[in-house]
Formats: sequence, structure tokens, C-alpha cells
Amino acid sequence: MTDLLLLNAVVLTMDENRPRAQEVAIKDGRILAVGEDDLKSLVHNSTEVIDLGGKTILPGFIDAHLHLRALAESLVTLNIGPASGVSSISHIQERIHHQALTLPPGTWIRAGGYNEIYLSEKRDPNRWDLDAAAPHHPVKLTHRSGHAHVLNSLGLTNIGISKETPDSETGIIDRDLETGEPTGLLYGMGDFLSQVIPPLDESQLDRGVKLANQELLSSGITTFQDASSRNDIERWRSFENWKREGTLQCRVLMMLGFKGFEEYQAGRLTSQMDKSHLRLGGVKIVLDETTGRLNPRQEDLNEIVLSVHQAGRQVAIHAIEETAIEAACSALEHAIRASPRPDHRHRIEHCSVCPEDLAARIASLGIAVVTNPAFLYVSGERYLKTVPPRQLKHLYPLATLIQNGVQVAAGSDAPVAPVNPLAGIYAAVSRKAESGEVVLANEKITSYEALRMYTMLAARSSFDENLKGIIAPGKLADLTILSADPTSVPIEAIKEIRVEMTIVGGDVVYRH
Ligand SMILES: [Zn+2]
Repeated sequence: MTDLLLLNAVVLTMDENRPRAQEVAIKDGRILAVGEDDLKSLVHNSTEVIDLGGKTILPGFIDAHLHLRALAESLVTLNIGPASGVSSISHIQERIHHQALTLPPGTWIRAGGYNEIYLSEKRDPNRWDLDAAAPHHPVKLTHRSGHAHVLNSLGLTNIGISKETPDSETGIIDRDLETGEPTGLLYGMGDFLSQVIPPLDESQLDRGVKLANQELLSSGITTFQDASSRNDIERWRSFENWKREGTLQCRVLMMLGFKGFEEYQAGRLTSQMDKSHLRLGGVKIVLDETTGRLNPRQEDLNEIVLSVHQAGRQVAIHAIEETAIEAACSALEHAIRASPRPDHRHRIEHCSVCPEDLAARIASLGIAVVTNPAFLYVSGERYLKTVPPRQLKHLYPLATLIQNGVQVAAGSDAPVAPVNPLAGIYAAVSRKAESGEVVLANEKITSYEALRMYTMLAARSSFDENLKGIIAPGKLADLTILSADPTSVPIEAIKEIRVEMTIVGGDVVYRH
């Protein structure tokens, strides 16, 4: 007997043993049976039956890499991205000025999502632009990429940055060439800024998390993996609260940063949570090249990676450029040689510029890649204009990675790109930017391969393939229902597909 029967559907199970079906029966939060118009015998008087009228059922989408706090913050602070109608620095000034009128002097104004390439001035705003709009409020702008920020003069003073402040190990303070005065533009200093600028107050953050929850569910996401390198015990407690209060309805896997890993090693992280709803993932390590050389250096990276590997945990290394990906491979190879372990599933996050020989090396080491196809859609136009040709021809080489045997999963990296997986699927299949320009036509993959990146392979990237990622009896009843089948519509129509319903553990948590 079943609690819920979904019938008259196109079921793309993503299960090679049984790729397609028409019906799914659910009991006690799990999939009871998958069938072809033959499950009626399971219906009893309290069964809910939903006729899907030919709509498509997929395993619930899994976003294998996003940043929930930053996403929540972006939803409750000023949006100055191109989609908000901002197309010049004077527009940004207007928005900031308007915000300043509503806040007491001295209160931080935060705004995010700007991208200088879409501003008519074709440059980043600077402190003086922001001073003109809000001289009595500290202001922080966040670039769309999250890797650059702009502060006004009061903001710089409040956090103690002046002409005399030296550059840090990891970041760059942009300076006026003649006077040496900081311009307000800061590169690679996000972690530092989040330590010195007061966080959003609790009620604002909660409101942001509620909005993020709605956005995730309406995008068909039933699990996300939070990849923030600042994740620690304190952040784990926040996730526990949001889950307990029902503010967050997706299942969550929280990666740890290195500091969080040390707390975990000291035995300080204990939890009573149901692991299918909130679980610890691997350890996220950021390998950054903002200052022109790798940070951490190779020897330090080797040591960090080895310590996480020997603790039996999975390592997830953020690496964008070719040299960083090579260094990540070397550190992982060093650890695997020192203490071999089958099926370690260490990961490289983003893996943005990757020639074929490097793809082959990644595959031979058994490393998985978690990448972000939607970047091609939201930033493709910028890549074509600004990425040097030698790198451009290896940019997000999805087909090359897959052909070389790398297990590739996908994440949005939200708020850097929108959470909707259909944007990423469309981009992976069409290689088209929002402007319609194509970025590397030879790296197109099929819509089936793209769906695997957001379901089965995303589940595998966190050792969850026994629980989710395919539709088969015994798996969690996490399902995404779409208006059409992405594998049978023309490529351009993928963009128009709507999420009709999202089901987590047998409960309908979103309906269009
Ligand atoms: Zn990220």
C-alpha cells in the first residue's frame, strides 16, 4: 500500500537498469515502486493520487556547490546586478543614495551583484563614487563573482584600511598609482571583510534564509551542498536551527572549512540531527591565485590535504586556473601515495581552465570534478571578451572531462550564478551565453549527461548514491517534476521548462 501515487508521467529515473517509467509510488518518505500503469493495486483509501498529465519526473535536483549564507544575504540586501536595471555607476549611486536616506548614519549599506562589464563606464566603481552617494554611511559593494569588493571612505576607515596598510598574504588593496591611496577596490579579501564588518542581524539573516529556501524549492532542488570555506561548528548550529524550525526544507550537506575541520578533529562537533536531512561533508580548501602566486603554497597545501586525507575525510579543493588545478592534483596525488585509500572521491571545485592532459591526470587519480555550467550562461559574454585565447579554448571543458572518464557533478555556486539547474543544463547543452554567443561548441554535452551532473553524479560526489540521485525502490522520495522532458525537447526549449512541483521525502514542498 502506498501513501502517494504519481501517475501518467514521463519518469526519467536516471537509473541505467530501468531508464524510463510512467508511475512512481511513495511510502514513508521512500520510493516504494516504479511502474508502467501497473501500480493501481497499491492504492488504498488514504492514498493520495496525482495525475501528472504527461509531465516529467526526475530525481530531485542536487546542487553540489553553493553558499547559503551569501545567497540569503544577496536576497535581503540591495541588488545592483544587470537584471535589476542597473547599467551605470550613476545608477549604483542613485540606489545607494536612496538606501542611505532610509538608514541612520553610520549603518552599513550592503549591495551586491554588480559586474563592471555591464556598466556603461566599463570600470569598477571606486570609493569616491560611493562617497558622493553616501558620505555618512559605510558602504560595501560585492562584485558578482564574490572575489572583489568596493568600500567607500567611511567603510575603509571603519575597518582600518588606509594608505599605510600593507597587502595581506591572500588579497590585494587596489591603490591610486600616483598617491598610493586605496581606491576602495579590494580583491580576494572576502574572508577578511566578513570578520571585520558586522554580520547581518539575525532577523535579516532568517528572512534571507526563508527567501533562499523558496528559491531553492521553486528551482526543484531537494538537496544542496554548502561549500563555504568558513563553515565551522557555529555555522553547523545555524543549519541545525534552520532545519529544526523548518526554515530550510531541502536536505543539506555542509562541508567544513579547515578551521571547522580542526574543531571537528578535536571532537567538538556532535549532533542529534537526522543525517538524511543534515550531514557533514568533506573539507573545503581554497587554493587562490589573487596575488599572482598560489596561496597556500604547494608544500603547505600538501600538508593540509594529507592531514584531511589521513583523517579519512574527503577533500574538496577550489581551483580555477590551470596552475591551481595542477597544484591540487599534486597535493592529492601526494596524499593518496602516502596513504592509499580506495574510492576517496576527493574533489576539485570549479576546474575552470583544464586542458585535456590535465583532465586525463584528474581521471587517473580518481578525482571528481564539481563545476558550474551556468557560469557559461551568465558570464559567457565576459569570458569571450576577457579570457586570453590560450585559456579560452580549455574553459569549462565538459565534454573533454567526461570523455576522459572524470565524474563531473554540477553546482550553481549561488549567489555567483542563479540556483536554477535548468540554466546550467541549458548552458551545458548549448554552450550559449545569455547574449546568444557560443563558448566552445566542441565542449557541448547531451541533455542526459547534463541531467546526470545534477542528480546521480551530484549524489555520488558526496557518497550519497545509495540514498538519492536516481528513482528506484528504496531511495528517498525526493523528486522534481518538470513541465517537459529536457531530453526530448529542442535545445532552445530547455530554457522554457518550468519546475511544476518539488517533493522532499514524499512531501510536496513546492507547487507552481
Ligand atoms: Zn563557491
